[in-house]
Amino acid sequence: MKIKVLGNGSASPSLERSPSSVIVEHKNKYYLIDCGEGTQYKLLEFHINFNKLTHILITHLHGDHYAGVFSLISTLNSWGREKELTIVAPPGLKEILSLQFQYQNTTLHFELIIIETNTDKYYKIFENKDIALMAFPLSHRIPTTGFLIKETNQENKIIKDKLPSNIKIADIQTLKKGHDVWDTNGQLLYKNSDYTTPAPLPKTFAYCSDTIFDENIIQYINHVDLLYHEATFTNEHSSRATATYHSTAQQAAIIAKKAKVNQLIIGHFSARYNNIEPFLDEAKQEFENTILSVKGLEIVI
Ligand SMILES: [Zn+2]
Repeated sequence: MKIKVLGNGSASPSLERSPSSVIVEHKNKYYLIDCGEGTQYKLLEFHINFNKLTHILITHLHGDHYAGVFSLISTLNSWGREKELTIVAPPGLKEILSLQFQYQNTTLHFELIIIETNTDKYYKIFENKDIALMAFPLSHRIPTTGFLIKETNQENKIIKDKLPSNIKIADIQTLKKGHDVWDTNGQLLYKNSDYTTPAPLPKTFAYCSDTIFDENIIQYINHVDLLYHEATFTNEHSSRATATYHSTAQQAAIIAKKAKVNQLIIGHFSARYNNIEPFLDEAKQEFENTILSVKGLEIVI
């Protein structure tokens, strides 16, 4: 699973930072998490293949997290997309989009599936053959969910050098699933451990966009491989963080430490800070394995 940072800013526009957004690449599909104004330009900038974008996940309906959805969908439509697109978002986006399409007199040529999130509970939104997507409540000024992406159905790796040249494709699939292959007479043909190495442990990525410091979320993100957590302010402005239902870098790091995650990435920096290094210093005092969200950064887990 590869996570790429498209933007690391918060609501106020900044020439240095775009609105917070990441794109998750997994098994040749892209899952875009949050889509603020101008996100489609970031997708272009990083040569993301729009056809491989299958899902857009929106945490909440503050403009810096969803205002780019309409323009992105319009672009996909005008470029002739035919494949369905799934949007996962809190209630309200469906109505907003349909009004925009109505007044723009746009007819979509592809199926737009909108799954409305329940922002009050932890639950599985869907599971496909590659990943399970979970939602969990965050504490912000409007209904907001965090997302947890878990790999599923990891396959054993085939040791190609050991495969007999006449083996059937179906038997390779059986081996990948971790089973031995038997013939119809009950004779063992291929012992799994002779031809494969075990499947890697499933990776997990949690995304906590706008939220006040809230230890309730720890139970949902325990031991994830990578946690993205917003850090809008440094400690100097902690009262502002509380008043606006945001977090400081130190608070993000405390959540990471208590959840025993492997790595923390912090972003959503307020435009008032020209230099974001103090965010890193502050977070590292609580949780050493922290990195700053910087446009273009890629992390493979
Ligand atoms: Zn917000």
